[in-house]
Amino acid sequence: MPGIVDTAPERRRPLIVDVRPNSLDDGPGIRTTVFFKGCPLACVWCHNPEAIRSGPEIAFLEKDCIACGECMPVCVPKALGRGPAVAFDRALCNSCGACAELCPTGALKQVGRYWEIDELLPHLLRDLPFYRNSGGGVTLSGGEATMFPRYVEELLRRLKEAGIHTLVETCGLFRLETFRERLLPHLDQIYYDVKFIDEALHERYTGRPNRVILQNLEALAGLAPGRVLPRVPLIPGLTADLDNLRAIGGYLRHLGFAEARLLPYNPLWAEKAVSVGRESGYRHEGWLSREEQAACESAFFGALCG
Ligand code: SF4
Ligand code: SF4
Repeated sequence: MPGIVDTAPERRRPLIVDVRPNSLDDGPGIRTTVFFKGCPLACVWCHNPEAIRSGPEIAFLEKDCIACGECMPVCVPKALGRGPAVAFDRALCNSCGACAELCPTGALKQVGRYWEIDELLPHLLRDLPFYRNSGGGVTLSGGEATMFPRYVEELLRRLKEAGIHTLVETCGLFRLETFRERLLPHLDQIYYDVKFIDEALHERYTGRPNRVILQNLEALAGLAPGRVLPRVPLIPGLTADLDNLRAIGGYLRHLGFAEARLLPYNPLWAEKAVSVGRESGYRHEGWLSREEQAACESAFFGALCG
């Protein structure tokens, strides 16, 4: 239902898709980024489509299958059949993961597993000297980490106790009260994505209206000044529309933001979407041209900076 935030996953244990060390793109300095599985949006261009569903799933990349047949005997519901490569019937698969454990090439992969915080923390603390020397830390990304406030609150609290800089990348669709009381006290920085100003376009291309997202951003501009960095993903033909960028830039200026970022389009997400059966129909081959990028920057920063 529009405007209602689904908090059901809070009662479930969050799955984590990846824990990626040495990240230079997810905040200041050298960072480790934790990708949570589950998101209230389903953007047609999602760069991490394997992180949209909160439950476990199997990714299958046909091009990596050598048809060795190792996987088939262990599949109880018979979701794997013979063909030139394995024929994978996602509708029959129960995500048990038995096949992925045997697949020698990684063509079949289990996406998402639960980490106890006591298990996850040592991985995050391993690079403490690099964080300290570079001004880095830990970034929670996804998917949408704020869908799991109980787990994330505990994780952030323990990271702060260890003196680590914390950052969350969010789509902005969360219960403000929960975010403010449980997560904000333990966050040094918030990267906050804004996609469209027009509500109908937002709903058409992300699956949800943007009313709560914009209300939350307006609230955070007052609650956490200096800690929120708005970001706009540049999606050719969708968000990278000059009128949309001018509208977002002007809106952010009105809220008092002097700094914001444009995120470059990366076409490499498409193969991941196929592997988890999430082809959305949106396609744009290749990157934005230098001229297109420059026009987007001019429209957006012109409106943001006046
Ligand atoms: S995850 Fe389990 S049910 Fe799904 S294809 Fe693999 S073995 Fe079969
Ligand atoms: S185990 Fe992997 S490589 Fe072998 S047939 Fe199954 S999917 Fe293909």
